Amino acid sequence: MRLFCSFLLFISALTAESADWIWTGRYVVTMDAQRRLIENGAVAIRGARILAVGPKAEIERRYQARQQLDRPDAMLTPGLISTHTHAAMSLFRGIADDVRLQDWLEHYIFPAEARNVTPDFVRWGTRLACLEMMLSGTTTFTDMYYFEDVVAEATKEAGMRGVLGETIIGFPSPDAKTPKDALAFTDKLLRRFHTDPLVVPAVAPHAIYTNSDETLKACRALANRYGAPLLIHLSETKHENDECMAKRHMTPTQALDALGVFNGRTVAAHAVWVNDADMAILKARGVGIAHCPSSNMMLASGVAPVTRMLALGLNVGLGPDGPAGSNNDFNMFEEMDLAAKLQKVTTGDPRSLPAETAFEMATIRGARVLGMEKEIGSLETGKLADLISIRLDRPNAVPLYHVYSQLVYALKGCDVEDVMVNGRLLVRDARPLTLNEAQILAKAREYGERVRKSLTRH
Ligand SMILES: [Zn+2]
Repeated sequence: MRLFCSFLLFISALTAESADWIWTGRYVVTMDAQRRLIENGAVAIRGARILAVGPKAEIERRYQARQQLDRPDAMLTPGLISTHTHAAMSLFRGIADDVRLQDWLEHYIFPAEARNVTPDFVRWGTRLACLEMMLSGTTTFTDMYYFEDVVAEATKEAGMRGVLGETIIGFPSPDAKTPKDALAFTDKLLRRFHTDPLVVPAVAPHAIYTNSDETLKACRALANRYGAPLLIHLSETKHENDECMAKRHMTPTQALDALGVFNGRTVAAHAVWVNDADMAILKARGVGIAHCPSSNMMLASGVAPVTRMLALGLNVGLGPDGPAGSNNDFNMFEEMDLAAKLQKVTTGDPRSLPAETAFEMATIRGARVLGMEKEIGSLETGKLADLISIRLDRPNAVPLYHVYSQLVYALKGCDVEDVMVNGRLLVRDARPLTLNEAQILAKAREYGERVRKSLTRH
């Protein structure tokens, strides 16, 4: 009998397909079309892609892996997708909070940026942001800032996935004197990264109120020439809408649509002050919405009508927005939790934006917002291997009745244990493998001192 068993094992080893990794967990939260939750599940990975997802016993029978990661008390989920942020601003974290947006911009951020933002600043700021994002489960982020080529280099070095656009704005910025220079910079960025496995270069006009019509049209044309996404802030504040109505007798959504800015892949951040007619336009043009609940609350911008957007079938994802003055961290677990609760408190209905939908917004819906749903956002055969494990053995994780409810309302970014992007392990046992944490923190403190001095000097 023993001989027979060894023979069977020998045969199955011979017939098993090879894999680079098998991850096993107490639950696999697939976020596939059937929303399969697999108890005692596993994911097999080869190269950058997922080979198979299924029950642990079946996956271990079918595949012979070079490396195995067993997490019997954790869940495996798709990596989280952030649809809007400004990573390098991490070095301005907490520079001035609880002030009006105009004060914040004029007295703190614009002078601080003018005096401090260099390629080196952006490199260390992005490294700090990537470190924080990966340790809290984000595997893809969407960014708008300056020196975006350096953001792309730092993102690749960290091993993360990024949709990255150079900010195009109608006044001199740290790396472009005019919008024309910023467009030329973006053209170079698109040429350099458009076939990159991790970086999706994008065109990022800041907003309608900071750019001329000519620049906005040129941005769309440039994006379409490369099939690149266009990233823009949209109807973030009531002031922005009032000003646009006074000037153009149209809402920002109507005005951008009239300019043809939505004629191609677009991600619009915020969309707080949008009416039904605006939402119909956004739906018709397939514009993805990056909902940023922390930022909208902290800046008292208002509440985006997310429940209505979802009912109308718009693609809505989540983003932490800036880490300085409008949130102060990059934690997608907080965004999920706040997105769900903010809709409940404003609609007066606790059934609004349930946990499962909030988790979809951080995964598969976020992927749709970016137009990347065929590649990321769920754990399925053939998709890119972007996945995380989340501990279930902490006081805030027991007992467990409902997986999605636990993910959104109880689990935290610091419960993330392992992170893989594109088949490469970036975090193991909550420790970063691709970034030097001590060095990054030391450099961030050093920059903190430098920025503080630059503000008091003047
Ligand atoms: Zn923003």
